[in-house]
Amino acid sequence: MNSLLSRIITSPANEEIKAIRALERRKERRETGLFIAEGLRHVLEGIDCGWELHRLVFHTKLAGKNEIQTAQRVCVAGGGQCFEVNDTVLEKLSHKDNPQQVIGVFKQKTLSLDFFPFSRHTNPEQKKIVSCIVALEQVRDPGNLGTILRTVDGVGADAVILIDQCCDPFSVEAVRASMGSLFAVPIAVATRDEFLVYAKAWQGAVVGTHLSDRTVDYREAVYTKPVLLVMGNEQAGLSPELSAALPILVKLPMKGRADSLNLAIATGVMLYRILEA
Ligand code: SAM
Repeated sequence: MNSLLSRIITSPANEEIKAIRALERRKERRETGLFIAEGLRHVLEGIDCGWELHRLVFHTKLAGKNEIQTAQRVCVAGGGQCFEVNDTVLEKLSHKDNPQQVIGVFKQKTLSLDFFPFSRHTNPEQKKIVSCIVALEQVRDPGNLGTILRTVDGVGADAVILIDQCCDPFSVEAVRASMGSLFAVPIAVATRDEFLVYAKAWQGAVVGTHLSDRTVDYREAVYTKPVLLVMGNEQAGLSPELSAALPILVKLPMKGRADSLNLAIATGVMLYRILEA
């Protein structure tokens, strides 16, 4: 059955392999609308969450294994192609620090803010009541973005909005840092102006995080659900435009010499405060 569902490729110079490798570049991802997920667990996660698997690449020694066969069937049924490859090809596709036996190429999925909920009513993507959405203004570090997606998923928040020039959630680094949560968390992209209109219509607390001393201690703020939590850029923090427009600004106390927390850590602390306190 394998030979019917997959093609054997032994050369790293094969055009299909080169096309997958090229997805490490943002330009290529933007043009094709595709991205790479590394590892069997993440590929199965993507399938489970209903994402479209366009290419499946796996080491020939895994051929015939149940989970691989399941992934092959899904890939082929959706019009995709499967490739059985050797070590040399996988080395070309995988990062040296993170060699993988399975690689999936999925179709990207982001939503427009028009399809995002702004009240406690049912989230169209996940069919549940909305508790908290996290908005990130100009997040630049893909490791931070992936970690935040993982945290949003873990704490049971609903979605992420990327405001303005953010790093690519579909970069290899972000996908890897998300540990599969990228597939479970709806993502919207918006300009700052679009976000401001959305935030104005939000029917719950809109909370920004800021380092100014004029802000409220995060333990004292009232988090009326659903909460729209807004986090700033790693270097510059929240822009003056957003800071001025958000009705509540909170600060996590800084007690030592550090003047701020890492963005992903600050987001995690805020989310557990909002959803678990
Ligand atoms: N130099 C920047 C500034 O002055 O805002 C530091 C930005 S900080 C590394 C990145 C983001 O993490 C901030 O915009 C904020 O959203 C959040 N953050 C980090 N530490 C925080 C704290 N102690 N209180 C509130 N938010 C914090």
